[in-house]
Amino acid sequence: MTSTHAFWLAGRQATGEATIDVTSPWDGRLVGRAAVPTDAQVEEAVAAAYAVRDEFAATPAHVRAAALDHVSRRIAERSEEIAALISAENGKPMKWARGEVGRAISVFRIAADEARRYNGGEAQRLDADLSGVGRLAFTRRFPKGVVLGIAPFNFPLNLCAHKIAPAIAVGTPIILKPAPATPLSGLLLGELLAETELPAGAWSVLPVPNDRMPALVQDERLPVISFTGSDKVGFAIMDSVPRKHCTLELGGNGAAVVLADYASDADLDHAAQRIAAFANYQGGQSCISVQRVIADASLYERLVPRIVRAVEAQVTGDPADDATDVGPLVSEDAARRVESWVEEATAAGATLLTGGKREGAAYAPTVLADVPSDVAVSCEEVFGPVLTVARAEDEAAAFAAVNDSKYGLQSGVFTHDLQAAFRAHRTLEVGGVVVGDVPSYRADQMPYGGVKRSGVGREGVRFAMDDYTYERVMVLTGI
Ligand code: NAD
Repeated sequence: MTSTHAFWLAGRQATGEATIDVTSPWDGRLVGRAAVPTDAQVEEAVAAAYAVRDEFAATPAHVRAAALDHVSRRIAERSEEIAALISAENGKPMKWARGEVGRAISVFRIAADEARRYNGGEAQRLDADLSGVGRLAFTRRFPKGVVLGIAPFNFPLNLCAHKIAPAIAVGTPIILKPAPATPLSGLLLGELLAETELPAGAWSVLPVPNDRMPALVQDERLPVISFTGSDKVGFAIMDSVPRKHCTLELGGNGAAVVLADYASDADLDHAAQRIAAFANYQGGQSCISVQRVIADASLYERLVPRIVRAVEAQVTGDPADDATDVGPLVSEDAARRVESWVEEATAAGATLLTGGKREGAAYAPTVLADVPSDVAVSCEEVFGPVLTVARAEDEAAAFAAVNDSKYGLQSGVFTHDLQAAFRAHRTLEVGGVVVGDVPSYRADQMPYGGVKRSGVGREGVRFAMDDYTYERVMVLTGI
């Protein structure tokens, strides 16, 4: 019998009147059922979060930090079981699921450390002006209000962690909504949070169906929305609540640039290995996976066969198998969409160098060359294991090609040239430039986010803490 996973309403377990079936994208088996809250239960969670704002904000930092440390420790203790759950509900190979668990352990630990030292305060003398003589200003950061955190399916644990840990670190209540395809990892996080002493109401994990989300998005008791997901949904949310504070962590079509100096055999082997691994990890379902390679024309002919060989060496198959590099996509629909985009590209003249086959929800790692710039695999986010390779005449042309995108999340630049690295940093319209590696590198304490259609605002534990709070100044007079 498959168990029903309760949701978390104001810190306690509850079930509603309905459930969502969560199935494995790999073999379609039922992994579990997630209980769905009723409207009345959602209202109860929001009311509890709203009511506990002051109490939570006043909870001492050492209490919040201890809770965060506890969750970090408990994830570590249960890491193999949690990785298996992520892998089962998401289809992510175990090696990547373990990596995600490791990152969630870090996120809670970093948040605990930040909670201990964070004050956001600054003293300012005001007597540079006559009117300020005898006055002193100082600032502290206070929560903006209850956060509505909305998470996507592709990192079902760690992106829930990125919403909830910074909220606890600053003492602001949060209603977290995991993705409908992968709610179980977020609900398991609730189980660990329930072991802490945080005030009731400070956090809820509610798998609210999409069609009932607009009411929650509009709720005035939730002034902060922290959304990670597609640009289409994210910007629709922001447009529907122009007076709310929205952070949008959205998609991308990440580019890896290989500059002319990165030309030794060892360099090209390294670049090809990294590109192949991170074009396909999690079936390419990462916002910073490599979708586009832009190689200097002088090394294109030597690099591309290496990339194709490395892509073909990726082990595809059962995500539960430790050897598997590339599992299925999240659904057969997603794989069919990727298939149709590759077909569109080849019909428009692209050359299929490898891959291009679908079996159920699994899509073979694919490399395309000579791809026209106006087809979907060039200009949209593929979110599948598909890589396009292109040549650029020089560095400026390569950077211009990166910027010729509606997205701007992260870019990778393979170079040993420090000046070129700084030129990339100055020129590329992205939230992050990774030098010497693919765009797919993210450390959880880094500021992380995009420009253009890739998003608004930054996450990364301390940056999310800044985002959830605002500076309130106090002016002291007569001192
Ligand atoms: P999605 O936009 O379909 O869904 C994201 C979340 O929004 C889910 O929880 C979903 O249930 C919810 N949602 C859907 N409709 C809603 C509505 N009307 N109101 C409120 N919430 C609603 O995205 P997805 O398919 O789950 O995730 C994939 C996308 O996420 C990709 O575009 C990927 O690039 C992006 N992503 C971005 C980052 C980042 O940090 N920049 C990280 C991971 C994933």
